[in-house]
Amino acid sequence: MADFMESIRDLPVKSATKPGEILDRLESAPPLDPEPFERIFEDFQSIVLPGMTHWQHPSFHAYFPANSSPPSLLAEMLTATLGAQCMSWATSPAATELEERMIEWLRQMIGVPTGWSGVIQDTASTATLCSLLTAREQATGFGVNRSGFAGNEHFRVYCSAEAHSSVEKAVRIAGIGGENLVRIPVDNRFALRPADLVAAIEADRTSGFRPLAVVATVGTTGSTAVDPVRAIGEICRRESLWLHVDAAFAGNALILPEMRWMADGLELADSLVFNPHKWLLTNFDCSAHFVKDPAALVRTFEMTPEYLKTAEANRVKNYRDWGIQLGRRFRALKLWFVIRSYGVAGLQAVLRSHIALARSLAVRIDRHTDFELMAPTVVALVCFRCHPAGVDDPIVLDRLNEVLLERVNASGRCYISHTRLAGLYTLRLHTGQTQVTAADVDRSWELICTEAARLG
Ligand SMILES: *Cc1c(COP(=O)(O)O)cnc(C)c1O
Repeated sequence: MADFMESIRDLPVKSATKPGEILDRLESAPPLDPEPFERIFEDFQSIVLPGMTHWQHPSFHAYFPANSSPPSLLAEMLTATLGAQCMSWATSPAATELEERMIEWLRQMIGVPTGWSGVIQDTASTATLCSLLTAREQATGFGVNRSGFAGNEHFRVYCSAEAHSSVEKAVRIAGIGGENLVRIPVDNRFALRPADLVAAIEADRTSGFRPLAVVATVGTTGSTAVDPVRAIGEICRRESLWLHVDAAFAGNALILPEMRWMADGLELADSLVFNPHKWLLTNFDCSAHFVKDPAALVRTFEMTPEYLKTAEANRVKNYRDWGIQLGRRFRALKLWFVIRSYGVAGLQAVLRSHIALARSLAVRIDRHTDFELMAPTVVALVCFRCHPAGVDDPIVLDRLNEVLLERVNASGRCYISHTRLAGLYTLRLHTGQTQVTAADVDRSWELICTEAARLG
């Protein structure tokens, strides 16, 4: 593990494995007899490692990061060694109380209003689903949980056209129906337009729908656009709608006072999720889910069959009642190790340096005659494309950038991903990996320029 961490820059970022190649190298049936660990580990090195894409490589610029760090890794080793299942306070009191304290630390660190409470979920997808289920139950007097949807149909949920797919997944799973997720148009910075939200709610009420909730995004996946939380919150207050804030990636940057503007108006919301497992140097999985009214969340999810009853139940938190699953991992230990090892100031310094790297790259892209920026650089993500002078056919430009992405990623020296913004094929490059330095970003940018020049 230590060797891997030291030599990661020498490994190809993106695995060059073809589909099925690894599968073919794995024994088709389990071994009957025990094998020596040396052989197992050799196979790990020769079969598994070449098939891995290295998310901890400093030139990993694709998607969003899923960061790790030495203290997080050590905590995960201890967690695995303890092997505890932390569903209730009684099944591991320290896990519950450490989680309670870590949620309180994170609350202070990112400026969630006093009095809110929270829980560590596995992913933002789960947190968003839990918030929408709570919204549904609160709006129906906990009636859908009790007796199904009869008399409680025609709900509507709203988000921006740039919201993450997990919102639609949550709406589907919550029984509201994907067609009842209304996607509100965005402005030229890819943020939700409040006036269009008001119009959509009004039109829906007129047609007999029941507006239920809005999901605002702080840092969209496509371009880290920031929906105006205060304006949306005021609408939700007026209309009595639940407001959930999805800040999965960019929410980490709320530890920086200069980035707090992104969550202005959060006190008007009902819940928020952000993923320390993306950018706060804490291994996957670790999603911080905050709620203004924990009682409503718990009432939505609590189940206490005889075999789960414990004597101290009304004096402690039983996090099994704060979400979907019963069994829970001990996820708070890695946060405790990370936050104490770096200190808040240390974490702030890391995130600030990542944001500075993105901004400096954005300046270079903006100045380059063959490239253009496709969205504002809000946090550590740059959205751009190659656009040589004289090439203006949108289909040709899309194809050119697709080929550029393929060539850059096939090099194994850098990994970027793509999206479409305003319909245009766009390259995404984040500078949020734990170890990334200016030299790493320079090398990636040079590679992109060289490959673009080769495309002629
Ligand atoms: C990454 C992301 C998600 C999904 O996160 P998971 O924790 O993998 O479910 C949701 N919303 C946004 C805005 C994201 O960037």
